[in-house]
Amino acid sequence: MSADKKKKSKWNRFKQYLLDIFFPRHVKCIFCGEELDGSEHNDTCKNCQTALPFIVNYCIRCGEPLTHEGEGICLRCTQNNHSFVMARSVFEYKGKIVSAVHKYKYNGQKFLCEPMAGYLCDYLARWNVSFDYICSVPMFKKKEKERGYNQAKLIAEIVAEKFDIPHIDAITKIKNNPSQTTLAFRERQENVKDVFALNENFKNLIKNKTILLIDDVYTTGATANEIAEVLMHGHAKQVYVLTLAHALIKQDI
Ligand SMILES: [Zn+2]
Ligand SMILES: [Zn+2]
Repeated sequence: MSADKKKKSKWNRFKQYLLDIFFPRHVKCIFCGEELDGSEHNDTCKNCQTALPFIVNYCIRCGEPLTHEGEGICLRCTQNNHSFVMARSVFEYKGKIVSAVHKYKYNGQKFLCEPMAGYLCDYLARWNVSFDYICSVPMFKKKEKERGYNQAKLIAEIVAEKFDIPHIDAITKIKNNPSQTTLAFRERQENVKDVFALNENFKNLIKNKTILLIDDVYTTGATANEIAEVLMHGHAKQVYVLTLAHALIKQDI
């Protein structure tokens, strides 16, 4: 991290420290609203912590939750290749995770970036890969302006700071494509084609580097795959993907 950035993050932490004194944040569990005493991990009460849908068994390539124990590959990964080495997610995208992500993304509850990043940090601390850079899935500029923040970037920056790995805006979204939410697997792949481009400023930096791409939700992997392809095309060494949650949709291959 550059001296300037370090100074800035030190100042930000001090600012947050003061804000916490005068305007205490997250005094409630982010999932059920129960009052917390501040000692809880990731602003989650004990009951929610044990009930959250952590992924235990998963596809070794895309991280999709599997019902059987041990290593395996999901149906889609048996028939499709990815440009990333592997993708992992902390939670299944269901129940309390869906409502928390919705509050974070669509209801302006920006402060949720911290506990959410906290869960990614927990995961990364156990992941035995060393990364040169962290990237996040970019938003189209106009859309980011409307929302006021890019939810993936906010959590990625917190993770980057915690692990002292530089976060770089290596990817730019050059087309405002329709939302992926209602599309099927093949449509999603088409919908993200030529939507992302390598940021010229980072062209040399990413060469032969291992990059971690962070997003909030992984669904079919179309977005992650497209970005990984752009990075690999720019001669990155390898790309890994980490998301907060993995959504299961019908496997139409
Ligand atoms: Zn709770
Ligand atoms: Zn898979």
